Amino acid sequence: MGDKAERHYDIVVAGGGMIGSSLALALAPLGLTLAVVEAVARTESAQPSFDDRSTALSRSTQKTFEAMGLWPDIVAGSTPIRRIHVSDRGRFGFSHVDAAEQGVEALGYVVVNRVLGTVLQSAIHDVRELDLLCPATIRDVEIDDEHANVHVEHGDGSFERLSCRLLVAADGAASTVRSMMGISAQRSDYGQCAIVGNLMPERRIDHQAYERFTERGPMALLPVTDNRAAFVWIVSGSDARNLLALDDAACVAAMQEEFGFRLGRFSKIGKRAAYPLALSKASRLTVPRGVLVGNSAHGLHPVAAQGFNLGMRDVAALCDCIADAADAADDPPVFDPGDAALLSRYAQWRRVDQARLVGITDGLVRLFGSRSAPARILRNVGMLGFDIVPGVRTLFAKQMMGLSGRLPRLSRGVPIR
Ligand SMILES: Cc1cc2nc3c(=O)[nH]c(=O)nc-3n(C[C@H](O)[C@H](O)[C@H](O)COP(=O)(O)OP(=O)(O)OC[C@H]3O[C@@H](n4cnc5c(N)ncnc54)[C@H](O)[C@@H]3O)c2cc1C
Repeated sequence: MGDKAERHYDIVVAGGGMIGSSLALALAPLGLTLAVVEAVARTESAQPSFDDRSTALSRSTQKTFEAMGLWPDIVAGSTPIRRIHVSDRGRFGFSHVDAAEQGVEALGYVVVNRVLGTVLQSAIHDVRELDLLCPATIRDVEIDDEHANVHVEHGDGSFERLSCRLLVAADGAASTVRSMMGISAQRSDYGQCAIVGNLMPERRIDHQAYERFTERGPMALLPVTDNRAAFVWIVSGSDARNLLALDDAACVAAMQEEFGFRLGRFSKIGKRAAYPLALSKASRLTVPRGVLVGNSAHGLHPVAAQGFNLGMRDVAALCDCIADAADAADDPPVFDPGDAALLSRYAQWRRVDQARLVGITDGLVRLFGSRSAPARILRNVGMLGFDIVPGVRTLFAKQMMGLSGRLPRLSRGVPIR
């Protein structure tokens, strides 16, 4: 490739979406030289990470952003969830998870991805040792004992070679950088789509999130600003095509029929978008000089709103491992952020949390998405058990808040420097 020049960095992050940008900012206090290579500008409508979706941020993600000093800006554009109401269409009764019961102010916060993108990118511009190359796409990767060499195509068609001690793939579930590193991934299609958008409920949603399991698939309503609700409705591929073809009134009627009237009548439904859903799992998390974080390591079904939060725990763990290795180095200039022992510690640390969340979300999809009679019986017992067996609700809430297991410093709200 006719590359025009070569720049050297300690760490290159492939993908400047929600996880790549967060990782670069989390690493910034360590004083390393960093580059983020992002293919699509944040302001482009095609930006796949910072789009119009809303993301429920868990407590461990909140703590991470607090430790990074970004939380005041993020919370200013977010809405707290104080209670989650879980119900099953066609059955009486419901379960709930309550922030007060868990002894916390909020179970999580809802932020629009675009809003999060604005905060992260403005913070990136303030870091001197961090270069954001955008629009720029990674086309090839070569790895030797000392370096990863990254071939980048800039938006103007020119090429550049970057070399680094560690290359982090944060380029999403369909990661090409993961393949360039030689890591395979398993992908299984759920045959479902998430239809997302916003609507206005008649009654105050009042900091309550709703999850409702229906014959067509689970539907979540999240509180966002101005008493609007962001919805995520998981349906089959053919239902998704039909729903997207409906006009606003017919789509509202279809949603109302599934959700019922506990929030009164719905109105003012906005633009809808569909996301095809699949589970993806990388076969390994590291290669010499390379590591995976976020969706490039694990792409989850959004039924439990955990994909980004799980990725933020990857971010926190990788930062911990790098910071510890830097502290242990006798002479900082010889510190190697791509050291094999450091990467192996990260991979071991993340294995359990990732496998558990993949299992929980995949199990929920099968349990709550199935129309079969045994699954219906099981899910009723499951929901009943969830509400009456002492301790189960607390354990579930802890997992969903991202506070179970051994947590890295950032996930506990402790700055790494
Ligand atoms: C409908 C829906 C709702 C969701 N809701 C929640 C929720 O409430 N809570 C939650 O925790 N999670 C949620 N998720 C999951 C969450 O959105 C993802 O886990 C998160 O976006 C992953 O971020 P990422 O940065 O790893 O990947 P991505 O968001 O896919 O970003 C990857 C970035 O890499 C860039 N890129 C790709 N290839 C290259 C290349 N070769 N060179 C340079 N750049 C490249 C892309 O342009 C992109 O910006 C939801 C997902 C869906 C689909």
